[in-house]
Amino acid sequence: MKLNLGIDIDGVLTDEGPHTDSVWQKNISSYLDRKVELQEFTYNLQQAFGLTEDELIGFIEKKLPDVYKNAVPAAEAASTLLNLKEQGHKLILITARDKKFRHLTENWLAENKIPYHELYHEHDKAPLALTKNIDLFIDDNKENALSLAAAGIPVLLVNQYHNFDFKTTAKIKRVNNWSEITKQIELFLAEYTMSGKLS
Ligand SMILES: [Mg+2]
Repeated sequence: MKLNLGIDIDGVLTDEGPHTDSVWQKNISSYLDRKVELQEFTYNLQQAFGLTEDELIGFIEKKLPDVYKNAVPAAEAASTLLNLKEQGHKLILITARDKKFRHLTENWLAENKIPYHELYHEHDKAPLALTKNIDLFIDDNKENALSLAAAGIPVLLVNQYHNFDFKTTAKIKRVNNWSEITKQIELFLAEYTMSGKLS
């Protein structure tokens, strides 16, 4: 069976660093010239780090392109995706990054030799994932995970500072890294083959 894999970029293909000192926490602290601390388990940077609206807007305008440009790829992401591609699976990247960062994102993917078939910029991922017949989605955003699961799409939720409080469900499994993602994809394929044989 060949899978259509939905894959998020930030926090999935990028390494956002340790939970207690993430790339976001570091960059916001350096931009504001004060040490911000994680206050809430949320993807929303303003709430997560207790910023004012102006601080958030300033950070996004002045620093976000650098954060994207300087992102460190997650360990084993490129090699895993290359293996999956060679096995015939389709790699569909769906990111909530603004479309104005498309060239930057394409360059980053090329520089880091991360293979993929398609790249979309979309906040509301579940409807697009359904249109693209995605079999399994890898994301770190708990809200995305919930809406994808509600649409019947199983999710591998990558552990991040903003989803620690999330309780997994039958359709949403937690993973820590790409070697665990590989194992879960193998398990998913094995279960699919088994159910195919039994039915
Ligand atoms: Mg993400």
